[in-house]
Amino acid sequence: MSAYICPVCQYVYDEAKGAPREGFPAGTQWDAIPDDWCCPDCGVREKVDFEATNASV
Ligand SMILES: [Zn+2]
Repeated sequence: MSAYICPVCQYVYDEAKGAPREGFPAGTQWDAIPDDWCCPDCGVREKVDFEATNASV
């Protein structure tokens, strides 16, 4: 499982946790996230702008 971080607000999408409020249950892989999905926290960045991270937040 990997995690991806928004470079603007540091929101982390963790595949293991998913983003239930966004409609992605725990275990949803990054590849399954739509390319036009926006960061749920800042709404400024899209999926392509996220960076892979090993940080656990
Ligand atoms: Zn963000």
